[in-house]
Amino acid sequence: MSKRAISTDQIHHPYRAPEGWDAFPPGVFKASTVLFKNTADLHQYRPRDGLSYRYGLHGTPTSYTLGARIASLEGAKHCLLVPSGLAAVTLVSLGLLRPGDEVLVPDNVYGQNRYLSESFLPQFGVTYKFYDPLDAEGFKALLTPKTKLVWLEAAGSITLEFPDLLGLLAACKAHGGVITALDNTWGSGVAFNPFEIAPGVGVDISMQALTKYPSGGADVLMGSVCTRDFALHERLNYAHEHLGYGLGQNDVEMVLRGLPTLELRYRAQDATTRALAAWMQAQPQVAQVLHPALPDSPGHQYWLQTSMAGAACLFSAVFKPEYGARQVDAFVDALELFGIGYSWAGPMSLAVPYDLSRSRNLSRTFAEGVVVRFAIGLEAEADLRADLARALALL
Ligand SMILES: *Cc1c(COP(=O)(O)O)cnc(C)c1O
Repeated sequence: MSKRAISTDQIHHPYRAPEGWDAFPPGVFKASTVLFKNTADLHQYRPRDGLSYRYGLHGTPTSYTLGARIASLEGAKHCLLVPSGLAAVTLVSLGLLRPGDEVLVPDNVYGQNRYLSESFLPQFGVTYKFYDPLDAEGFKALLTPKTKLVWLEAAGSITLEFPDLLGLLAACKAHGGVITALDNTWGSGVAFNPFEIAPGVGVDISMQALTKYPSGGADVLMGSVCTRDFALHERLNYAHEHLGYGLGQNDVEMVLRGLPTLELRYRAQDATTRALAAWMQAQPQVAQVLHPALPDSPGHQYWLQTSMAGAACLFSAVFKPEYGARQVDAFVDALELFGIGYSWAGPMSLAVPYDLSRSRNLSRTFAEGVVVRFAIGLEAEADLRADLARALALL
């Protein structure tokens, strides 16, 4: 064949890496088009087990590698990846709820899940109720034939009450016909196995914001939805394919890079967080510290029941009522090593003040006062403690 033009040559160049070439990183495959071998291959193609190697939107070997690793982290069999933690929440609710159905949501749920249930799902004829995650008896009374999905979160966002998981799951099982979905961003697959919380007790779906621990770099947004049951996975995959959730494979690579250090980071941040939470509880300006490992934190007994080894890098301090919102803001501004902003589980520590008076519907289980939620990063504990002590002294 005569020599082709430079552009044609570059597009159709025959060089391929030799068979068997290998390295530790899984490699980054990017594609919109997935090439079929020939027309017979094209015509015969049938998606199997949710692995749709037919179009880049559904994934490439890079994202399927990540999905397989997240499934194994969660103790699951199947995993769907989505572009954010919120997209994972939405996939579950939109994928499973139909007009006339009702969803039950814990009162301390992640804020965006609350707003989804309160204002978005009603447009599709779906109703919602909030429940107190510490009161399995009260929860039982809310279950009706309309209840199709129950959200769980352990521990809850910001106030970190640990739910009565065993009691709530037993009530769902006794009622029948209810799918349970856990927002497992806090436990991240390290603190406990969501599908085997106690022998024979687990959730149907576990989703995570991979944005948090699995990425670990505070630089990627991504989410996952894991299941053990194939039929349930297929229902979610059906919604996934229709909603057009695609991922940038460079972002997928970033999360794959985070996974080998996930457990080490989780445990290091856990240790620093427990030490700082205990120290903070002893400070005269603080009425209460919320962290499931502290004995007077709401739901501590349920955290013990699930016999977990771990807790995430979050604690919240409730300031004594004499410190108003402006003073607490000044305390947060005075911190030098704590950034002010959302998300967490990255290298840098963060602090955010919250006024919870309007974001809880049910009874308040913690002390009155302004709340600051701390997310502890990977800095040295002594440096963080010194920073907190200096800012507290200015109060
Ligand atoms: C951050 C977070 C989410 C949402 O994740 P994004 O990737 O930021 O959309 C969901 N649930 C919990 C508990 C979270 O902390």
